[in-house]
Amino acid sequence: MQESFERAYPFELADKLETEGNLTDDELKAVLLFDAPGFDEYLAGKARAVREKHYGKEVYLRGLIEFTNYCKNNCYYCGIRRGNANAERYRLSEDLILSCCDMGYELGFRTFVLQGGEDPYYTDELVVSIVSAIKERHPDCAVTLSIGEREKESYQKFFDAGAERYLLRHETADKAHYRMLHPDELSFDHRMQCLKNLKEIGYQVGTGMMVGSPYQTTEHLVKDLRFLKDFGPEMVGMGPFIPHHDTCFADSPAGTVEMTVRLLAVIRLLLPDVLLPATTALGTIDPIGREKGLLAGANVIMPNLSPADVRSKYLLYDNKKVTGDEAAEAVRDMTRRISSVGYEAVVARGDHANFRK
Ligand code: SAH
Repeated sequence: MQESFERAYPFELADKLETEGNLTDDELKAVLLFDAPGFDEYLAGKARAVREKHYGKEVYLRGLIEFTNYCKNNCYYCGIRRGNANAERYRLSEDLILSCCDMGYELGFRTFVLQGGEDPYYTDELVVSIVSAIKERHPDCAVTLSIGEREKESYQKFFDAGAERYLLRHETADKAHYRMLHPDELSFDHRMQCLKNLKEIGYQVGTGMMVGSPYQTTEHLVKDLRFLKDFGPEMVGMGPFIPHHDTCFADSPAGTVEMTVRLLAVIRLLLPDVLLPATTALGTIDPIGREKGLLAGANVIMPNLSPADVRSKYLLYDNKKVTGDEAAEAVRDMTRRISSVGYEAVVARGDHANFRK
């Protein structure tokens, strides 16, 4: 009797998470640690039901442009950290970024995500110029920035220029853990302040963490989930940590596909209408990792629109899935993968429900 009660308990927690959209920290921990046949399928089924209620079968495609791999920071886990003398650095000119967007627009993309290292070459003025030019050429598109920590005034300028979304992962919600992943010149409090500022300005904000980063415990992940629930981002970017051979964590193990997929399902249930990408990192540790993510509640995929010759240089981690394919081929491949699991690729702007025009 006792035994069957214990076996059923996490399944009950999954039910509770679906109906209430929340659990206590202890309950979340139990959900993350539970190991029994059928549990992941059960949880993923709930996550799919919730995503389909809010988004039907649609998966949003966002065109990702990795426009610089110069970075002034030295995050211990990241392959483009400034201390990595082996990284071959590149920057895309404004013209090249615009032509990536034009090509993406032709392919149907209506969201462009500009991501890069923290590169002071791109002054506030230059970022404003790039964002304004994209909006001028493609007023029906959304521009997302993912360029790290800047002052609130800078974020405001980018917003006024037409950037409506910003991705800044919190990386870990535990201050002591944050210290283990970053040098002293970076601060947990400043990153959190940036997230608050972005929200105050009115951005659709994305945040998130790596799964299985060095020194990460289940308690840290519970803290991450609590932070996500309290902060209420419009998007959660989360993928497995993967070691890069030129970093301090070259010998650390990668995060697992199982834990990443379980966390995706939990996040879908905690934040029912959040935009949730199945990340490239997930597709890197498992050839069908992104498909598994889609089947656990993820509803966004970001194909790479960067020029083929720089794609192989934006290496945050080892073995990153990089193809020399034309973007058009990448889109066809992604569309096939998405329909292989019963969903439908769409290129609409795909704003969060609270921001639909
Ligand atoms: N400079 C920007 C963009 C960073 S790159 C910023 O600071 O926000 C985007 C994300 O890649 C990071 O937020 C981090 O979570 C992830 N990343 C970096 N190194 C990684 C690694 N080794 N494995 C997996 N993800 C990594």
